[in-house]
Amino acid sequence: ILIKGRVIKSTGSWYNVRRLDSGEIVKCRIVGKFRLGNMNLTNPVAVGDVVEFVVNEDGFGMIKKIAPRVNYVARQSPRKLHDLHLLASNVDQAMLFVTIVEPHLKQGFIDRFLLMTEPQDIPTIIVFNKSDLYDADDKAIFNDMKTIYEKIGYSVLLISAITGEGLEDLKNVLKDKITLVSGQSGVGKSSAVNAIQAQLILKTGDISDYSGKGQHTTTFAEMFELDFGGSLIDTPGIKTLAFNNLQPMDVAHNFREFFILSDKCKFGSSCMHRNEPGCAVKAALTDSEDSLTELGISELRYQNYLKILEEIEDINYWQRNKEA
Ligand code: GDP
Repeated sequence: ILIKGRVIKSTGSWYNVRRLDSGEIVKCRIVGKFRLGNMNLTNPVAVGDVVEFVVNEDGFGMIKKIAPRVNYVARQSPRKLHDLHLLASNVDQAMLFVTIVEPHLKQGFIDRFLLMTEPQDIPTIIVFNKSDLYDADDKAIFNDMKTIYEKIGYSVLLISAITGEGLEDLKNVLKDKITLVSGQSGVGKSSAVNAIQAQLILKTGDISDYSGKGQHTTTFAEMFELDFGGSLIDTPGIKTLAFNNLQPMDVAHNFREFFILSDKCKFGSSCMHRNEPGCAVKAALTDSEDSLTELGISELRYQNYLKILEEIEDINYWQRNKEA
């Protein structure tokens, strides 16, 4: 008989699956190959997947089917340029932890993270932690960021895991939702989560940690239930995000404010907002005195956008020449 469950942890070849009926956790394996569209996956089953499995005589399960995913968050595999690595599936929202100081904000990272959640329309919350360390300049940076991202519809929170500032709001946002949480290591994601639910100890390591088998230990996500309702899917600290799995046009379409405005571009949704005549995005930036225009186009996001496009095109160029 087939039993339904949800994958709550993956460790490479084994998956912990929570039975939907009894809540019992069964260790499962998988047979066969799975793909996502025409992309190869480094991991066929993601945390969050709803699966059907059979239990063998030895008590271990064998996953037979993966239910269609409502959505998923995938990144380019850190090892194979054209493979995708699933971070999680079937989430209600994603939450990115950042801080302005200690470590200094890598600003471009926010836009890269949003480029991972936007194609699947996953609501994303940006949490600025360590507010207790911000001086007046840092606060001004935070306020700019808050304005930029809220203007285009993302939620922004300011918290401190140490003083407790903003933690009630954080809890309210997480309550009764399945949330993918992420952040570069050291930003205080574990501290913040532990501050709202003490028993929950997230792994703090980053991707330089290796297990005995020479594998990355932290490439694996894990789902935790929250006592106040909802669950978190913790993902390992991500150092960098690249997008060779995307075409330049995908990037243009997933900077949401550019896409909305492309209605007014001469070339419409095929405008790349670079040197095309009659580009409404460039016009908005040129006409405005401020670094954030009335229409929510910001110089900061625009520069990050150009950088991502350049990276993708560089890679494509080298690949074409290699193949020729
Ligand atoms: P993670 O890698 O994102 O999970 O980060 P950790 O939770 O391990 O925190 C990294 C460091 O930042 C630790 O030394 C924490 O004590 C410190 N930290 C975390 N949150 C805060 C905060 O809100 N304020 C201050 N001042 N330090 C914090």
